[in-house]
Amino acid sequence: GGALEIFDRLSELISKRGLNCQVELKNEPHDNTIGLKKSGCHGFCEMGPLIRIEPEGYLYTKIKLGDCEEIVERTIVAGEHIERLAYKQNGTVYKKQDEIPFYKRQTRLVLEHCGQIDSTSINEYLATGGYYALEKALFEMSSDEIINEITEANLRGRGGGGFPAGRKWAQVKRQSAKQKYVVCNGDEGDPGAFMDRSIMEGDPHRMLEGMMIAGLACGASEGYIYVRAEYPMAVSRLKKAIEQAKECGLLGENILGSDFSFNIHINRGAGAFVCGEGSALTASIEGKRGMPRVKPPRTVEHGLFDMPTVLNNVETYANVPLIIKNGAGWYKSVGTEKSPGTKAFALTGNIENTGLIEVPMGTTLREVIFDIGGGMRGGADFKAVQIGGPSGGCLSTENLDLPLDFDSLKKADAMIGSGGLVVMDNNTCMVEVARFFMNFTQNESCGKCVPCREGTKRMLEILERIVEGNGRDGDIELLLELADTISATALCGLGKAAAYPVVSTIKNFREEYEAHIYDKK
Ligand code: SF4
Repeated sequence: GGALEIFDRLSELISKRGLNCQVELKNEPHDNTIGLKKSGCHGFCEMGPLIRIEPEGYLYTKIKLGDCEEIVERTIVAGEHIERLAYKQNGTVYKKQDEIPFYKRQTRLVLEHCGQIDSTSINEYLATGGYYALEKALFEMSSDEIINEITEANLRGRGGGGFPAGRKWAQVKRQSAKQKYVVCNGDEGDPGAFMDRSIMEGDPHRMLEGMMIAGLACGASEGYIYVRAEYPMAVSRLKKAIEQAKECGLLGENILGSDFSFNIHINRGAGAFVCGEGSALTASIEGKRGMPRVKPPRTVEHGLFDMPTVLNNVETYANVPLIIKNGAGWYKSVGTEKSPGTKAFALTGNIENTGLIEVPMGTTLREVIFDIGGGMRGGADFKAVQIGGPSGGCLSTENLDLPLDFDSLKKADAMIGSGGLVVMDNNTCMVEVARFFMNFTQNESCGKCVPCREGTKRMLEILERIVEGNGRDGDIELLLELADTISATALCGLGKAAAYPVVSTIKNFREEYEAHIYDKK
């Protein structure tokens, strides 16, 4: 978005003005020193590039190179606020970031550092209390106490399934194998989802700290991060964070002088959606073709290199230091009883404020779309929201007051998934939406089992002919029958969930399918 050029221009102008431009955190800033730093994603994608001015907390949006001189002269030197560059909504000018409705209604715990600290500096992470949770886990807690705290907090996997992380860790700890692994799934493949990317780019140490605590609790000494090759910045920041942690004695042999040793490796995935599935992911790390296998055995018993493996996603690990630092009781004070904590969502589609948000579990769709998202773009009417990516479902106006948590969504035949929210207005054709997601899933089917390989192909053909106006009497019933068979017989989650967008759009928008077939619209 041009942010890097803006950074360079500001640095040049500040130095020209005779001020000391400090781009790294130092211990003793003095008068005439202006700190200038690159932060991770602020989440307000629609409004970038953004500049936040401290200590006032001013947020300037949609900055251009030509604005830099005025920012230096009026704000940095004279301390004035420039109204022209501030965010405006419905005629109100919002000076400070925290006052903007998009931010004010969020609870940013996992994303608290994204957009605040320089993610390439371990000093900044340490200055926020970073690695305190690791120190506490190392010197004040036994492995059982760590697992009990995570279990008591009821941390549920943020990758989609919502399986309790503490139970998974306890199962791995119970295994007698000498070698165990901690694996982080950073393969985020859902269209429209970029929560994990933001954490890896904006706060990589938080995730590493969570993985190390998992290793300490389960008796693992090796960790692997499986990250999409399409995320080069995430890869380079993770590499840098690993190097810095090693230099500080926080990673490697005898961490902080203890007898705990832990190493972390990065594996880049080649962009196969199916590699987000646990057994396909571990196969890919082993250098094999990324294909799911029959379970059992489960990953906790026979995972990476056939050894017991804890597999969680980026956001799940990023929650861990918070729980260890603040306690399970504090964690459970946020969210709902059965889904404590927060969830990050990528808000995209026909909405005013697209971006990355974090809300307590149990927040309703209406609050997310209208209060945080600012409502539909251009005053159009809300029609539907696709939640959980291609494995999720399409919800309609009837579901607007549905709380976003694992169990409420399951009851509505949808799922949180990794957290993609694609909002659609009344100009959207829902049959076309179903065709889009089926095309995606069909392309990503690994082809190992017949129901998914052949069934999704047949479903896609039917959807294509309906969209083209060549639908036949009985096509809707045939789609539902195929959906039923595929979800009952496919080998892995990708196939089992492949038909959800079709089933949910038929359930909520059947008249659109009928209009295509019978009225040839
Ligand atoms: Fe592969 Fe689909 Fe079968 Fe999963 S369900 S193993 S993605 S063919």
